[in-house]
Amino acid sequence: MAQGDLFVISAPSGTGKTTLCEMLLKEVPDIDFSVSHTTRPPRKNEVDGRDYHFVSRMKFDEMVSRGEFLEWATVHGNCYGTSSREVFSCLEAGRDVLLDIDVQGARQVRERFPGAVLVFILPPSMAALEERLRARGTEDAERLRIRLENAGLEVRSAPDYDYVVINDELPRALEDLKAIIRARRLRAQRVLSKWKI
Ligand code: ADP
Ligand code: 5GP
Repeated sequence: MAQGDLFVISAPSGTGKTTLCEMLLKEVPDIDFSVSHTTRPPRKNEVDGRDYHFVSRMKFDEMVSRGEFLEWATVHGNCYGTSSREVFSCLEAGRDVLLDIDVQGARQVRERFPGAVLVFILPPSMAALEERLRARGTEDAERLRIRLENAGLEVRSAPDYDYVVINDELPRALEDLKAIIRARRLRAQRVLSKWKI
Protein backbone atom coordinates (compact mmCIF):
# COMPACT_ATOMS: atom_id res chain seq x y z
CA MET A 1 0.00 0.00 0.00
CA ALA A 2 1.19 3.55 -0.79
CA GLN A 3 2.37 5.65 2.12
CA GLY A 4 0.15 8.50 3.32
CA ASP A 5 1.23 12.14 3.36
CA LEU A 6 2.31 14.15 6.38
CA PHE A 7 0.77 17.64 6.70
CA VAL A 8 2.31 20.04 9.20
CA ILE A 9 0.35 23.10 10.28
CA SER A 10 1.93 25.93 12.30
CA ALA A 11 0.69 29.36 13.33
CA PRO A 12 1.19 31.88 16.11
CA SER A 13 -0.98 31.13 19.12
CA GLY A 14 -4.48 32.64 18.67
CA THR A 15 -4.48 32.52 14.84
CA GLY A 16 -7.22 29.88 14.72
CA LYS A 17 -5.16 26.80 13.97
CA THR A 18 -7.00 24.52 16.41
CA THR A 19 -10.38 25.73 15.12
CA LEU A 20 -9.33 25.14 11.49
CA CYS A 21 -7.79 21.72 12.20
CA GLU A 22 -11.00 20.57 13.92
CA MET A 23 -13.11 21.70 10.95
CA LEU A 24 -10.70 20.10 8.51
CA LEU A 25 -10.79 16.75 10.30
CA LYS A 26 -14.60 16.75 10.19
CA GLU A 27 -14.75 17.52 6.48
CA VAL A 28 -11.80 15.69 4.97
CA PRO A 29 -11.87 11.88 5.01
CA ASP A 30 -8.89 9.58 5.59
CA ILE A 31 -6.74 11.98 7.60
CA ASP A 32 -5.74 11.41 11.22
CA PHE A 33 -4.78 14.04 13.77
CA SER A 34 -1.60 13.26 15.66
CA VAL A 35 -2.33 13.87 19.35
CA SER A 36 0.78 15.43 20.88
CA HIS A 37 2.20 14.93 24.34
CA THR A 38 2.52 18.04 26.50
CA THR A 39 3.49 19.11 30.00
CA ARG A 40 1.02 22.05 29.77
CA PRO A 41 -1.97 21.73 32.12
CA PRO A 42 -5.29 21.04 30.33
CA ARG A 43 -7.66 23.94 29.54
CA LYS A 44 -11.30 23.76 30.63
CA ASN A 45 -12.69 22.04 27.56
CA GLU A 46 -9.69 19.87 26.76
CA VAL A 47 -9.83 16.10 27.08
CA ASP A 48 -6.80 13.91 27.78
CA GLY A 49 -6.08 11.65 24.79
CA ARG A 50 -8.23 13.75 22.44
CA ASP A 51 -6.63 17.23 22.51
CA TYR A 52 -3.30 16.19 23.99
CA HIS A 53 -1.76 13.43 26.05
CA PHE A 54 -1.18 15.48 29.22
CA VAL A 55 1.95 14.15 30.94
CA SER A 56 4.31 15.10 33.77
CA ARG A 57 7.70 16.60 33.05
CA MET A 58 9.30 13.37 34.30
CA LYS A 59 7.31 11.20 31.87
CA PHE A 60 8.05 13.64 29.01
CA ASP A 61 11.81 13.52 29.74
CA GLU A 62 11.71 9.70 29.80
CA MET A 63 10.07 9.69 26.37
CA VAL A 64 12.76 12.08 25.06
CA SER A 65 15.56 9.90 26.39
CA ARG A 66 13.97 6.77 24.86
CA GLY A 67 13.87 8.55 21.47
CA GLU A 68 10.08 8.21 21.22
CA PHE A 69 9.48 11.63 19.63
CA LEU A 70 9.63 12.40 15.91
CA GLU A 71 10.13 16.00 17.11
CA TRP A 72 9.75 17.90 20.33
CA ALA A 73 10.22 21.48 21.55
CA THR A 74 9.72 23.85 24.44
CA VAL A 75 6.97 26.31 23.47
CA HIS A 76 5.79 29.21 25.68
CA GLY A 77 7.54 27.52 28.64
CA ASN A 78 5.96 24.04 28.26
CA CYS A 79 7.20 20.91 26.45
CA TYR A 80 5.36 19.48 23.45
CA GLY A 81 6.23 16.42 21.35
CA THR A 82 4.96 14.17 18.56
CA SER A 83 5.12 10.42 19.04
CA SER A 84 6.97 8.73 16.15
CA ARG A 85 5.02 5.50 16.60
CA GLU A 86 1.64 7.20 16.29
CA VAL A 87 2.62 9.04 13.10
CA PHE A 88 4.41 6.23 11.29
CA SER A 89 1.75 3.59 12.00
CA CYS A 90 -0.84 5.81 10.26
CA LEU A 91 1.41 6.75 7.33
CA GLU A 92 2.37 3.12 6.75
CA ALA A 93 -1.31 2.16 6.72
CA GLY A 94 -1.69 4.62 3.81
CA ARG A 95 -3.48 7.30 5.84
CA ASP A 96 -2.61 11.00 5.83
CA VAL A 97 -1.55 12.59 9.12
CA LEU A 98 -2.06 16.15 10.37
CA LEU A 99 0.42 17.66 12.82
CA ASP A 100 -0.40 20.90 14.66
CA ILE A 101 3.08 21.88 15.87
CA ASP A 102 5.23 24.95 16.33
CA VAL A 103 7.96 26.28 14.03
CA GLN A 104 10.82 24.50 15.87
CA GLY A 105 8.99 21.18 15.51
CA ALA A 106 8.21 21.81 11.84
CA ARG A 107 11.91 22.36 11.18
CA GLN A 108 12.77 19.01 12.79
CA VAL A 109 10.05 17.22 10.80
CA ARG A 110 11.32 18.70 7.52
CA GLU A 111 14.84 17.39 8.27
CA ARG A 112 13.67 13.90 9.18
CA PHE A 113 10.85 13.70 6.67
CA PRO A 114 11.61 15.89 3.62
CA GLY A 115 8.35 14.88 1.89
CA ALA A 116 6.22 16.53 4.58
CA VAL A 117 3.93 19.34 3.42
CA LEU A 118 4.39 22.45 5.60
CA VAL A 119 1.53 24.96 5.89
CA PHE A 120 1.77 28.21 7.85
CA ILE A 121 -1.41 29.99 8.91
CA LEU A 122 -1.27 33.75 9.42
CA PRO A 123 -3.80 35.99 11.17
CA PRO A 124 -5.08 38.92 9.08
CA SER A 125 -2.96 41.21 11.31
CA MET A 126 -1.10 41.15 14.62
CA ALA A 127 -3.86 43.30 16.12
CA ALA A 128 -6.48 40.70 15.13
CA LEU A 129 -4.30 37.99 16.65
CA GLU A 130 -4.14 39.81 19.98
CA GLU A 131 -7.90 40.34 19.93
CA ARG A 132 -8.59 36.64 19.25
CA LEU A 133 -6.20 35.51 21.96
CA ARG A 134 -7.75 37.88 24.51
CA ALA A 135 -11.28 36.87 23.49
CA ARG A 136 -10.41 33.16 23.89
CA GLY A 137 -9.71 33.99 27.54
CA THR A 138 -7.53 30.94 28.23
CA GLU A 139 -4.33 32.75 29.23
CA ASP A 140 -3.57 35.04 32.17
CA ALA A 141 -1.85 38.39 31.47
CA GLU A 142 1.70 37.02 31.73
CA ARG A 143 1.06 33.97 29.54
CA LEU A 144 -0.73 36.19 27.02
CA ARG A 145 2.31 38.48 26.89
CA ILE A 146 4.65 35.51 26.25
CA ARG A 147 2.41 34.18 23.47
CA LEU A 148 2.22 37.58 21.75
CA GLU A 149 5.98 38.06 22.04
CA ASN A 150 6.57 34.61 20.51
CA ALA A 151 4.06 35.35 17.72
CA GLY A 152 6.34 38.08 16.36
CA LEU A 153 9.23 35.58 16.19
CA GLU A 154 7.16 32.74 14.77
CA VAL A 155 5.87 34.68 11.73
CA ARG A 156 9.48 35.12 10.61
CA SER A 157 9.54 31.38 9.87
CA ALA A 158 6.64 31.60 7.40
CA PRO A 159 8.95 31.81 4.33
CA ASP A 160 10.34 28.33 5.18
CA TYR A 161 6.92 26.76 4.66
CA ASP A 162 5.47 25.37 1.40
CA TYR A 163 2.12 27.18 1.72
CA VAL A 164 0.74 30.18 3.60
CA VAL A 165 -2.97 30.51 4.39
CA ILE A 166 -4.43 33.71 5.87
CA ASN A 167 -7.19 33.05 8.37
CA ASP A 168 -9.36 36.12 7.85
CA GLU A 169 -12.70 34.43 7.16
CA LEU A 170 -12.85 30.90 8.57
CA PRO A 171 -14.77 29.28 5.64
CA ARG A 172 -12.33 30.66 3.08
CA ALA A 173 -9.25 29.63 5.06
CA LEU A 174 -10.75 26.16 5.45
CA GLU A 175 -11.26 25.94 1.66
CA ASP A 176 -7.59 26.89 1.15
CA LEU A 177 -6.45 24.11 3.49
CA LYS A 178 -8.72 21.59 1.79
CA ALA A 179 -7.33 22.66 -1.61
CA ILE A 180 -3.76 22.01 -0.43
CA ILE A 181 -4.65 18.51 0.76
CA ARG A 182 -6.63 17.78 -2.39
CA ALA A 183 -3.79 18.86 -4.69
CA ARG A 184 -1.32 16.76 -2.74
CA ARG A 185 -3.58 13.74 -3.04
CA LEU A 186 -3.76 14.25 -6.82
CA ARG A 187 0.00 14.00 -7.42
CA ALA A 188 0.68 11.57 -10.25
CA GLN A 189 2.86 9.34 -8.09
CA ARG A 190 0.16 8.94 -5.48
CA VAL A 191 -2.76 8.41 -7.88
CA LEU A 192 -0.83 5.94 -10.05
CA SER A 193 0.35 3.92 -7.06
CA LYS A 194 -3.30 3.00 -6.45
CA TRP A 195 -4.45 2.75 -10.06
CA LYS A 196 -4.70 -0.72 -11.53
CA ILE A 197 -5.64 -1.72 -15.09
P1 ADP B 1 -4.84 28.60 17.94
O1 ADP B 1 -5.09 27.13 17.97
O2 ADP B 1 -4.14 29.04 16.68
O3 ADP B 1 -4.17 29.11 19.18
P2 ADP B 1 -7.75 28.92 18.22
O4 ADP B 1 -8.26 27.94 17.20
O5 ADP B 1 -7.87 28.55 19.66
O6 ADP B 1 -6.25 29.37 17.88
O7 ADP B 1 -8.49 30.32 17.93
C1 ADP B 1 -8.26 31.45 18.75
C2 ADP B 1 -9.59 32.21 18.91
O8 ADP B 1 -9.91 32.88 17.68
C3 ADP B 1 -10.76 31.30 19.25
O9 ADP B 1 -11.59 31.93 20.19
C4 ADP B 1 -11.47 31.13 17.87
O10 ADP B 1 -12.85 30.90 18.04
C5 ADP B 1 -11.20 32.47 17.20
N1 ADP B 1 -11.08 32.41 15.71
C6 ADP B 1 -10.53 31.43 14.96
N2 ADP B 1 -10.59 31.74 13.65
C7 ADP B 1 -11.20 32.95 13.56
C8 ADP B 1 -11.57 33.81 12.47
N3 ADP B 1 -11.30 33.50 11.18
N4 ADP B 1 -12.19 34.97 12.75
C9 ADP B 1 -12.44 35.30 14.04
N5 ADP B 1 -12.14 34.56 15.12
C10 ADP B 1 -11.52 33.38 14.89
P1 5GP C 1 -1.31 25.33 22.86
O1 5GP C 1 -0.69 25.36 24.23
O2 5GP C 1 -1.96 26.67 22.51
O3 5GP C 1 -2.22 24.14 22.64
O4 5GP C 1 -0.12 25.14 21.82
C1 5GP C 1 0.99 26.00 21.85
C2 5GP C 1 1.89 25.74 20.67
O5 5GP C 1 2.46 24.43 20.78
C3 5GP C 1 1.19 25.78 19.31
O6 5GP C 1 2.02 26.53 18.42
C4 5GP C 1 1.13 24.34 18.89
O7 5GP C 1 1.16 24.20 17.48
C5 5GP C 1 2.40 23.82 19.50
N1 5GP C 1 2.41 22.35 19.63
C6 5GP C 1 1.38 21.54 19.94
N2 5GP C 1 1.78 20.24 19.92
C7 5GP C 1 3.09 20.25 19.56
C8 5GP C 1 4.07 19.22 19.34
O8 5GP C 1 3.83 18.03 19.46
N3 5GP C 1 5.32 19.65 19.00
C9 5GP C 1 5.65 20.95 18.85
N4 5GP C 1 6.89 21.23 18.47
N5 5GP C 1 4.76 21.94 19.03
C10 5GP C 1 3.50 21.60 19.39
